[in-house]
Amino acid sequence: MNSTLNPKRTVAELKELRALTGDENGSQRVAFTPLWTKTRTWLTEKLAALPVKMHTDPAGNFWATLPGESEKSLLIGGHMDSVPNGGWLDGCLNVLAGVEILRRINSQYDGKPPITIRLVDWADEEGARFGKSLFGSSACSGNLNLDEARGLKDKSGISLPAALKEVGVDFERVKDSGSELKHAAAYLELHIEQGPVLLDLDLPLGAVLGTFGVERHSITFHGQAAHSGSTPMNRRKDAFLAAAKMSSEIYKIAERSSNGVCTIGSCTTKPGIVTSVVEECRITLDQRHLDPTKLATMLAEAKSASEQFAREGNVQVTWERIWQIAPRPFNSELITLCENSIRETCGKSHRLPSGPLHDAAEVAAAGIPTVMLFVQSLHGISHNKIEDTKEEHLELCVTAFDKLAEKAIAWIQTRK
Ligand SMILES: [Zn+2]
Repeated sequence: MNSTLNPKRTVAELKELRALTGDENGSQRVAFTPLWTKTRTWLTEKLAALPVKMHTDPAGNFWATLPGESEKSLLIGGHMDSVPNGGWLDGCLNVLAGVEILRRINSQYDGKPPITIRLVDWADEEGARFGKSLFGSSACSGNLNLDEARGLKDKSGISLPAALKEVGVDFERVKDSGSELKHAAAYLELHIEQGPVLLDLDLPLGAVLGTFGVERHSITFHGQAAHSGSTPMNRRKDAFLAAAKMSSEIYKIAERSSNGVCTIGSCTTKPGIVTSVVEECRITLDQRHLDPTKLATMLAEAKSASEQFAREGNVQVTWERIWQIAPRPFNSELITLCENSIRETCGKSHRLPSGPLHDAAEVAAAGIPTVMLFVQSLHGISHNKIEDTKEEHLELCVTAFDKLAEKAIAWIQTRK
């Protein structure tokens, strides 16, 4: 079935792209810059040999469509943009594997697959320039907050609408891209893991369960400033003591949640001098879980622990939400197909959630059955020029992802 799939060609094309758009510091394909436009032109040339229809939608997402017997579409997605000084695989591996799969499907079905196959290169997944990740996919899913995005500026003061105008995109119309999802029956995305889980398990590939939900809060303990010499220990209202107890508590909360993570990322004290008991201590708490109920439990446990520590220390505590996003679980049937594809390719699979958000989270939020396939990252690191994956693993991931595409085509045909 895969007689024309050539995963080695994908690796060669990734190297070609690296030479074209990288320098000694890494990849430089920042969205809406000249090098990004050059990347798109290069991608178009790669696709030119196929009977695909190519166009850019109102949000700047690039689509290559291989029309099939049915309008029902299988979407394969990724992003050609990178962070400044980025790695050579993040995002473009997904797209180039998709190109190879389009070639295989085109050849296997003589240019007319049973359903329509569409490759999408999402615009500005990274948000490196304007600080807004998943721009193109969130415009397409309808989740993009236009009022918030309209005011975004890059370091040199150029607004997002102005930068979009440069590449021919009208900011006020970006949500019109939503019509692209009209016939979408499933969405597949391959990605490097960008973390150490598969590396530690010594497994090349994993099936992704979904992207984590996030609860992000600031917690402030209010005590009383007092002289560090004259105030006996039992008379203190020490805001820092209560906050410090949270530090060990979040490890217990994360452990009880099974597979959740909690981080206290910052801590500031007032008056913040060496001779005073802390009057006010503000910490930030970031909690993530794939299961919404468990995420809610983690949050509730952190709240009640903070109140207990406040009571014990005779101080007050207040909470303020900074940001929140719901978990985006992927489609359970597609997860099984993904796992089967991995097992057929390399014997063993592993199910894991994704800590980072991906365009797939936006597509899933739009109600399209979605799954992702992860390939191991060496050093467990990304957004860095040292980002890397063994070539043999890159070839395996293209093979497994292709099997998944074929299974998804069959799966879509069995659905109403
Ligand atoms: Zn990425």
